[in-house]
Amino acid sequence: MLNGKVALVTGGSRGIGAAIARGLAGAGAEVAITYATSDVRAEAVLAQIEATGSRGLVMAADAADAEALRRAVARTVAVLGRLDILVNNAGIAPYGPLAEVSLDEVDRTLAVHARAAFVTAQAAAAHMGAGGRIITIGSSLAERVTTPGWALYSMSKSALIGLTKGLARDLGPRDITANLIHPGSTDTEMNPADGPDADGERSYTALGRYCTPEDIAATVLHLAGPAGRNITGTAIAVDAGTTA
Ligand code: NDP
Repeated sequence: MLNGKVALVTGGSRGIGAAIARGLAGAGAEVAITYATSDVRAEAVLAQIEATGSRGLVMAADAADAEALRRAVARTVAVLGRLDILVNNAGIAPYGPLAEVSLDEVDRTLAVHARAAFVTAQAAAAHMGAGGRIITIGSSLAERVTTPGWALYSMSKSALIGLTKGLARDLGPRDITANLIHPGSTDTEMNPADGPDADGERSYTALGRYCTPEDIAATVLHLAGPAGRNITGTAIAVDAGTTA
């Protein structure tokens, strides 16, 4: 389905990003991933990409560092030859009492989630041709905040709604789509399904269960492939009904 395509997945060393990278490679794409600090984990994902028969590439690139992101895009094109699919996935989960959130935390969270998605999309779009795809991983917390402590995270993820609509308008004339996926509680190191808050999170869903990283990756694959050609400027919840 994605033979001949090249994808870049930010934050591909673990969790949702790693599942997306494996899924894209399994569908035939060549896949570059970035990570912040998990070099050994990133190499393991590279081996999984290559085990599908696809070429892969691993790069350290802090999402808060705009130049590092631009270099990652340029290196993907230089090594893998083109860029068709960008998945903005790298993320952090600042959480805690409102009064204790520092300005540094505000700036870093906005940089890692919102500025990074903007800068990477801007750099990637310069290399994309017709059929290009920009897919960003947001959060159901951009639509429904279920408990206290998430104001900063929710603010940073809701910025992606406007980014996605704007990108759809900017890039539509070039036949490039831009979409957002809003995962709900998903079983990763960020939010383990057996963690202390997990039962509470399950209680906010309609289906009574967590998502798996592969649930999110499946929707990325749908958007990235031919079936996604007329989906743009929208957000798709994959959240077991948290926002229902
Ligand atoms: P994990 O913590 O399991 O993995 C995070 C990934 O992002 C890792 O690959 C990590 O790299 C990378 N990363 C973190 N910070 C940076 C940074 N500054 N620069 C580059 N890479 C970075 O998280 P998830 O897989 O759960 O989350 C993936 C995305 O999904 C995030 O955007 C998150 O907000 C979103 N999401 C997750 C939900 C959940 O319940 N899990 C729910 C809704 C949204 P490294 O290994 O090097 O640290």
